Amino acid sequence: MKKIKMTTPIVEMDGDEMTRVLWKMIKETLILPYVDLQTEYFDLGLVHRDETRDQVTIDAANAIKRLGVGVKCATITPNEKRMTEYNLAEKYKSPNGTIRAILDGTVFRTPILIDSIKPVVRNWKKPITIARHAYGDVYRCTEFRVPEKGKAELLFTGENGTQYRHEIYDFECPGIIQGMYNKDSSIYSFARSCFQYAVDTKQDLWFSAKDTISKVYDERFKQVFEEVFDAEYKAEFDRLGITYFYTLIDDAVARVIRSEGGYIWACKNYDGDVMSDMVSTAFGSLAMMTSVLVSPDGNYEYEAAHGTVTRHYYRYRDGERTSTNPIATIFAWSGALRKRGEKDGLEELSKFATNLENAVIDTLNDGIMTKDLVGLVEDVKLEPVYSDEFLEQVKKHLDKLL
Ligand code: NAP
Ligand code: MG
Repeated sequence: MKKIKMTTPIVEMDGDEMTRVLWKMIKETLILPYVDLQTEYFDLGLVHRDETRDQVTIDAANAIKRLGVGVKCATITPNEKRMTEYNLAEKYKSPNGTIRAILDGTVFRTPILIDSIKPVVRNWKKPITIARHAYGDVYRCTEFRVPEKGKAELLFTGENGTQYRHEIYDFECPGIIQGMYNKDSSIYSFARSCFQYAVDTKQDLWFSAKDTISKVYDERFKQVFEEVFDAEYKAEFDRLGITYFYTLIDDAVARVIRSEGGYIWACKNYDGDVMSDMVSTAFGSLAMMTSVLVSPDGNYEYEAAHGTVTRHYYRYRDGERTSTNPIATIFAWSGALRKRGEKDGLEELSKFATNLENAVIDTLNDGIMTKDLVGLVEDVKLEPVYSDEFLEQVKKHLDKLL
């Protein structure tokens, strides 16, 4: 069979532990036999990040800016334990955080649905994609314990010395205090990434906040979304027959539960953190959650939402065969290949990506799945397969489709 040609490379970011093992297996079994794969390879495995003092992560992010499409394996974010385990020179920041900061992007998480695994919320029929504004607010706040009676004030000093001062509270007893911020530039990027992704995937966009209570802070988010929509996206939304609407977070929560899915829900940082865990749990498994980072100028980075599956890796290292679910990582590859195909006008490449995804779904529908999914299927009792067996079965289904 003739391999499918590519014209521009994809930025390939290798990672750590069990997902690094799966990465190689996926490429060898499901990509390289079919695609004349061109990538710019960056090894984001912790050993190489340490050797380059994390420069490799920055180089990879810049390569995504240049080439437009990347695919990333899960990576370890070092903590104290990893410092000793890997004898690290520094406690490096999360690669995802570094890449997100350089691309100024927003992360969209979408579950992969199959017929035999029913979401906990009965009426959900289509995926719900959560977009989380991953900058500022309580994640970059300054807070402290107020030790005694006294007055707390908010003070801003402009570059020319003008000061704005507001009383927060006149404490009659000890308490707590917190200051947080966001930036117009970041909110605009968030809004543009959301509208862009809605257009890309032809889905409605919801945005929720709490502007009735936070009349300046959350109101600003609402304004920016409205402004960007009216000025830059309204016509395109009308043409595609999709809608944008803003609603209060409380109302959004109620609507989401009653909905059948099939839209993008944009959330502020904290809401997105909490709601994405709720939505992914209700849909089934973390191993079935895909993730794409979209920059406001249209660069894309695909990955699985889960981590490096450390517990499985330690067993693998001890010579055990594991039943780790490779699906979200396969979908990261198919997402990147499809986007590359779209950007470069390579229909065959995009079609291959869809066939690969369909082959995974067909395999699952035949009752062939890894251990994490077997337990979620109702009514029938299935025997789990090992990761390598699962990939071989996907390959068989893929060959049938091609
Ligand atoms: P994790 O790797 O997502 O795994 C947590 C547990 O979820 C696993 O032990 C496993 O449960 C289950 N699981 C997750 N993915 C699975 C899959 N594909 N197949 C089967 N089961 C799966 O999270 P973690 O253990 O908290 O973190 C491990 C490392 O990943 C950490 O070093 C962290 O820094 C990193 N991390 C990276 C990213 C990223 O790069 N995007 C994201 C999150 C975490 P059982 O053991 O019960 O089977
Ligand atoms: Mg969370």
